[in-house]
Amino acid sequence: MKIGFVSERRFGEPRIAVMPSMIDRYRRIGIEVVVERGIGEHMGLADGAFQEAGAEPADPGTVPEVCQVLARLRAPSDEEISAIPAGTLHISFLDPFSETERIARMAAQGITAVSMQMIPRSTYAQKMDALSSQANLGGYVAVILGAARSARIMPMMTTPAGTIKPMAVLVIGVGVAGLQAIATARRLGARVSAFDTRPVVEEQVKSLGAKFVKIDIGETGQTQDGYAKELTPEQLRMQREGMTKVCAQSDMIITTAQVFGRPAPRIITADMVAAMRPGTVVVDMAVESGGNVEGSRKDAEVDEKGVIILGHANLPGRVPVDASTMYAMNVFHLVQEFWDADAKTIRLDAGNKIIEACLATRDGAVLSKRPE
Ligand code: NAD
Repeated sequence: MKIGFVSERRFGEPRIAVMPSMIDRYRRIGIEVVVERGIGEHMGLADGAFQEAGAEPADPGTVPEVCQVLARLRAPSDEEISAIPAGTLHISFLDPFSETERIARMAAQGITAVSMQMIPRSTYAQKMDALSSQANLGGYVAVILGAARSARIMPMMTTPAGTIKPMAVLVIGVGVAGLQAIATARRLGARVSAFDTRPVVEEQVKSLGAKFVKIDIGETGQTQDGYAKELTPEQLRMQREGMTKVCAQSDMIITTAQVFGRPAPRIITADMVAAMRPGTVVVDMAVESGGNVEGSRKDAEVDEKGVIILGHANLPGRVPVDASTMYAMNVFHLVQEFWDADAKTIRLDAGNKIIEACLATRDGAVLSKRPE
């Protein structure tokens, strides 16, 4: 069996699903690896590095023809779907809630599609959890971008020229990205506060040396999978009211709030931005799913009377070597989990909890998924 990896640079995606260090792992379990020429050039990884590790090179456009499994980061374009032979197993990020047309097209083409973003967030599946591996890096990059854009430094500095106070950073939404944002800002010496609607998070925030902001918005909670439940409009109003003052006292705000399968909650309104001090930097990590901040624009920097709102998409793509290394490991663990070495095939057994969660299409049918 052959697994193939393609470049997605032409779609602006610098991350890839294989690194030279992974190739031997596939070969040791009996899977041959095909890699599109030029796949890692933009990261300083020459084709020779993949070939020396044992991969077979292939010209762009030819990988699907020779592989039974295709793995990549983004979902394929319409044109790419039509070039994938029926029966191929396709592994990529794929959103069953917003990419329904694409999924239907993949099903009609006879492609079996695995969605990396639907891997359960369980302890067992952690090694395949690409949402977490990428969100973790995203949280780090958000702080670094915000720090680079701020006119202030993060740590306290006591010098003969005077004492500089540490930067006040507020993190809204403390999932994987938020926790890493807190940890990164703390490492850089900032004074960090954080808020999340899931009360269980308070403990984790405190263990990172940050302060948990308490706002009474009534009963909140999380789903069985640990995702936040959607707030009522009244709860969201109470949250905004409670956050206005703490936002106005912050030098940097990182927002990461998401509700699974739904658009991101709009937490920071234009009025709240207007109440912030000029020079405040706001990084809206939810910009791709609707945005937590009113006025943030995808891949743009907005200046609202001196408040800088950063809406850069694909933050993990800004550190493509580490993001690809982690994603490649997630994909390998998924393949290894379902690899039947005797039959030399990947077995996607119905009834397996991971398969049930992440399989988007099979045998020409769309397997529907619904948020709780
Ligand atoms: P996410 O990206 O879905 O959301 C980010 C954060 O935003 C969440 O913490 C959420 O509670 C919060 N949020 C939602 N609405 C909000 C609001 N109005 N105000 C403030 N915050 C709001 O989260 P994620 O990082 O994907 O993590 C989802 C869950 O999965 C978490 O419980 C996490 O601990 C869990 N998880 C478990 C594992 C594991 O056990 N292996 C791995 C990864 C994640």
